[in-house]
Amino acid sequence: RAKKLGRNNTQFYQPAMNEEALERVRIETALRSALERDEFILHYQPQVDLRSGRIVGMEALIRWQHPELGMVAPYRFIGLAEETGLIVPIGAWVLRTACAQAKAWQDAGHGPLRIAVNLSPRQFGEPNLLASIAEVLEQTGLPPSCLDIELTEGLFMNDVALAVELLHKLKALGLALSIDDFGTGYSSFSYLRKFPIDVLKIDRSFVSDIGADDEAAIVVSIIALAHNLKLRVIAEGVESAAQLEYLRLHGCDEIQGYYFSQPVAGDAFEQMLIEGRNLASTAPITA
Ligand code: C2E
Ligand code: MG
Ligand code: MG
Ligand code: MG
Repeated sequence: RAKKLGRNNTQFYQPAMNEEALERVRIETALRSALERDEFILHYQPQVDLRSGRIVGMEALIRWQHPELGMVAPYRFIGLAEETGLIVPIGAWVLRTACAQAKAWQDAGHGPLRIAVNLSPRQFGEPNLLASIAEVLEQTGLPPSCLDIELTEGLFMNDVALAVELLHKLKALGLALSIDDFGTGYSSFSYLRKFPIDVLKIDRSFVSDIGADDEAAIVVSIIALAHNLKLRVIAEGVESAAQLEYLRLHGCDEIQGYYFSQPVAGDAFEQMLIEGRNLASTAPITA
């Protein structure tokens, strides 16, 4: 920012800029060493089919197990990782770890579970994105059809033609593409037809408003939109039996949310699989 003001003005901004730059370097160093010291872990949140009531997949969600701060939530560091570019190696670690875990659960006999992985805009712009995803699928042996890449609407704002091309190349790998937080970003109906998308994830802000008539109309509309476009639809942030029933009544395909389970560590997730936990089982699981 200071650079734009030119050489003469720079001095006025020096202290603030130094502080900002220092803070960035500090965080960048911390994130880099977190990666080296293996301080990141993935939690997994089940995605449950509303017809069968069974777990059909899971979303991988990163956490930072900081030696002093304890468990650090992604909102506290993903933005900074994005800014510094460290999201690229961190995202590569997430993808590799998530795919390896999904393959291990499949090999243990838990069925063809799908794993959903969040892809940040910075990763989307990386020239070797395709090669690195193909390599992870190859190395882990996870069937590509079991990988679901979650993207946000913001990605489609910049260069639409380029995005369309890249999405088709991703699809050619055999994986599925989801739009995360659907309805909160730059929602244009035209991109939904242009882009080879498989899943809409209804943002939890709409789900949490079920009960108020107008907001529920949005949920119902998104479900209809998805189905008219032959897309699967997943409701995020389902916290109550009432929300669940409403979504079931309106034909939503899958749910994800605290009502069924919070995101949990790998061993706790596997326990749910072993127990055959499903919508008919009762008490929600907390992390
Ligand atoms: P997201 O991809 O939309 O993930 C869903 C978030 O909603 C998760 O938060 C999850 O814990 C939370 N959630 C799920 N069910 C409920 C519910 O019933 N109620 C409430 N209140 N919240 C619920 P989390 O794990 O803190 O992640 C936040 C965001 O951080 C994610 O939003 C995603 O944008 C980002 N993120 C997480 N892991 C990664 C990653 O590996 N890579 C990238 N690029 N971003 C990630
Ligand atoms: Mg997501
Ligand atoms: Mg989301
Ligand atoms: Mg989000």
